[in-house]
Amino acid sequence: MKQTADAVVIGGGIVGMAAAFYLAREKFGSIVLVEKEKFFGSGSTSKAAGGIRAQFTTRVNIEMSMLAEKIFENFKDETGHDALFDQVGYMFLLSRDEDIEVFKKAFELQKSLGLPAELLQPDDIPQYAPHVRLDDIKLATFCKKDGLGDPAEFLSGYEHAAREHGVELVNEAPVTGLEVSGGKITKVKTAKGDIETPLVINAAGAWSGLIAEMAGADLKVKPYPRMCVTTAELDFMKPYFPMVVDVATGLYSHKESKGILLGWANKDSESTFDQSILPDYVDGILERALDRIPQLETAEVANQWTGLYSTTPDHRAVIGWEPSVEGLFYITGFSGHGFMHAPSAGIVSMEMITGKKLSVDISDLSPERFARGELVEEKNVI
Ligand SMILES: Cc1cc2nc3c(=O)[nH]c(=O)nc-3n(C[C@H](O)[C@H](O)[C@H](O)COP(=O)(O)OP(=O)(O)OC[C@H]3O[C@@H](n4cnc5c(N)ncnc54)[C@H](O)[C@@H]3O)c2cc1C
Repeated sequence: MKQTADAVVIGGGIVGMAAAFYLAREKFGSIVLVEKEKFFGSGSTSKAAGGIRAQFTTRVNIEMSMLAEKIFENFKDETGHDALFDQVGYMFLLSRDEDIEVFKKAFELQKSLGLPAELLQPDDIPQYAPHVRLDDIKLATFCKKDGLGDPAEFLSGYEHAAREHGVELVNEAPVTGLEVSGGKITKVKTAKGDIETPLVINAAGAWSGLIAEMAGADLKVKPYPRMCVTTAELDFMKPYFPMVVDVATGLYSHKESKGILLGWANKDSESTFDQSILPDYVDGILERALDRIPQLETAEVANQWTGLYSTTPDHRAVIGWEPSVEGLFYITGFSGHGFMHAPSAGIVSMEMITGKKLSVDISDLSPERFARGELVEEKNVI
């Protein structure tokens, strides 16, 4: 491992890998990416459900997704490596008047930004999702450009491309400390040795608050456990079924192999790094799933897992410079959307670090917003 570098990226998930790639493609200089685990992506990236969508309630999240979807569509041109973006669409089912109000407002914003989102009446829904119970559904929103991707495939594309552009990727190298001198980052300490550097990119996801603490900074990102369940093969699943989100209960579901993936954000979970499987949580997913998709009654559970969301108080990412430590840059806090936003996060971070014009105005994602109390909540969080 190099002992000096122009930049050290901490975290070998999809966000850190994308940022390292875009910086290296821009010929930024020598870049080392350090990952604490044996395998890249073994943090939240390998736990993600693979959803990619631009139907958000805030301008910055819609634009981050629209840029990312273009990259996912043309990933081979971007990186030289293949990965499939299966644009089956995302559908949000709305049964409560208060949700309809929020989603209609968001729909207007999405249309004004050029997103081809649609409002669907209940009769329009079965052509896309014949398996869902509709008797209480009043409206749905749908965007056919949204869809699904395998986080491991996209991570692998960025990993290979980063290596090809000269990034040194080091695994089993947990960062144990950061040295700050005269208010500036000077060194990253790892279990495999120290690296002198003026620039640290904190892409440590749910663990990024711990990295910030090593430099004496207070980053408002906390880990929250989130669980998914997959079923064995189901005869009613069709390859064209979209991601379906039941907004009232928070249940999301999409095809996974020949079965279905089910997830739900239990908003009562406490912040923790513990990724144990919680039986009550699994029951909560299955109850909501049976209620919305009655045909699941005979389904067999194939797999279940827990991963961590890296969550901020307003459910929007943190991208930008830590104000109290020169040379410390954050790309974290995606609050459940870091896979889908990784390409655009990598691009805008590279642009910010190299002083280029930004492809998306990310002033709303600034780390300083918390101290200023300027929080605009992203309301479409699952
Ligand atoms: C159940 C679940 C479902 C999800 N579904 C979706 C979805 O459908 N769509 C979507 O966009 N997002 C989804 N997400 C969120 C998504 O997984 C994350 O936002 C995304 O993976 C964040 O990527 P990352 O690179 O920032 O974090 P990670 O993949 O966690 O990478 C951070 C890396 O930093 C490493 N690290 C931590 N501390 C240190 C240290 N001290 N030294 C060195 N390395 C360190 C970790 O080991 C880790 O590999 C989901 C998350 C969960 C848990």
